[in-house]
Amino acid sequence: DSEPQVYGLGMKELWDIDPALHQPGLVIHSQGWPLTDAYGGGFLYHQANGQVALGFVVGLGYRNPHLYPFEEFQRWKQHPEIRKFLEGGRRVSYGARAINEGGWQSIPTLAFPGGALIGCSAGFVNVPRIKGTHTAMKSGMLAAEAAFAAVQADRSGDVLGDYEANLRSSWIASELQLVKNAEPLLSKFGNTLGTLLAGIDMWMRTLKIGLPFTMKHKPDNEKIWPKEACAKIAYPKPDGVISFDRLSSVFLSNTNHEEDQPVHLQLKDPAVPIAYNLPLYDEPAQRYCPAGVYEVVGQEEGLPKFQINAQNCVHCKTCDIKDPTQNINWVVPEGGGGPNYPNM
Ligand code: SF4
Repeated sequence: DSEPQVYGLGMKELWDIDPALHQPGLVIHSQGWPLTDAYGGGFLYHQANGQVALGFVVGLGYRNPHLYPFEEFQRWKQHPEIRKFLEGGRRVSYGARAINEGGWQSIPTLAFPGGALIGCSAGFVNVPRIKGTHTAMKSGMLAAEAAFAAVQADRSGDVLGDYEANLRSSWIASELQLVKNAEPLLSKFGNTLGTLLAGIDMWMRTLKIGLPFTMKHKPDNEKIWPKEACAKIAYPKPDGVISFDRLSSVFLSNTNHEEDQPVHLQLKDPAVPIAYNLPLYDEPAQRYCPAGVYEVVGQEEGLPKFQINAQNCVHCKTCDIKDPTQNINWVVPEGGGGPNYPNM
């Protein structure tokens, strides 16, 4: 009973920086640059212990299959206002994660027999405010109160209807309803016009000037265009100082899967990547995966092969979201393997 969920791919790094450059509490947010064919933005936080946490989010509703989110992130770090904090520093960690950006209209039914969706599993992120911890905590509190009342009434295994009702009449609802058209407007009109229209929409709602419409979402995988319809994007080579490649980044995520475990990235039809995605979209999995899991190898011999380096997966779920025909299914890997993030 909701709109489809839509997502952004967030990539993040931790750096130990030159103590002379560290300004505890300084927050930098950016929007747009260097993206030309997508919407998104970056953040840089000066946090404790001489570290900065920085990252870049690319909306996964992008159309151009040549877009390479990881390279956009690396390019973003070269902006003088970001680079100046990183020079002389050392990168210590890397990770990636898909973020639910659908907002209020994508929140599904929240309670089911014996369980409830809370926090980011339901999608309570306030996208234009770039935060969701407060809504996640509040949803957890409301679920706990409903569960506590159920236990006191000797109920078990039924539906926590009070949680759903109380959440939909809480400040989470009013906060997210104010910004509900921001993501769809950005997705439809791009960074400049989309931001302007989203700003107008948000201000009018804040001023209670009724705008009686809720914009719909289209699933991210359906927004991609054929490769011929889009320009190729030239990305600079990593300099090994500020910008890096994906494999050295995955190394810093402490990702570990047992080599002989079943592949946890399953293809519904193994023929699709080469027979359909490659000619039509130049197989975008080669670029959207922030860990370099997917490769098309052997093209020079005339027999391209789709290779899945599942042991590198950092569990961001982008492939499950963005694959054009939804042919990739991310399943929980055997044995609890995956990234092991310190302080991320
Ligand atoms: S394989 Fe999929 S889930 Fe794993 S890192 Fe790549 S895009 Fe993310």
